[in-house]
Amino acid sequence: MTGRRVSCGVGTERRNFSLVQHAVVRGASKALCGETIQLVVIGDWQVPFMPSVASACEECVRLLAGRSES
Ligand SMILES: [Zn+2]
Repeated sequence: MTGRRVSCGVGTERRNFSLVQHAVVRGASKALCGETIQLVVIGDWQVPFMPSVASACEECVRLLAGRSES
C-alpha cells in the first residue's frame, strides 16, 4: 500500500449505458482526467478507485499509472 488515496467517482454523463468510474484524489472536485464527477460514498466510506474494473476511465487509469512511476 502506498500513502496515496484515490477515491472512485462516477461521471455525470453515461457512456455506453453505464457509469464510468474516474479516479479522484482526496479533496479534489474533479477526476484526474479533468472530468466533473460525483464521489461514490457508501456511508462514511469513500469507495477506492480500482483501475481493473471494466467501467474504469481509461484516461484516469493512464494518468494514475504515470503518477505512480514518478
Ligand atoms: Zn477519468
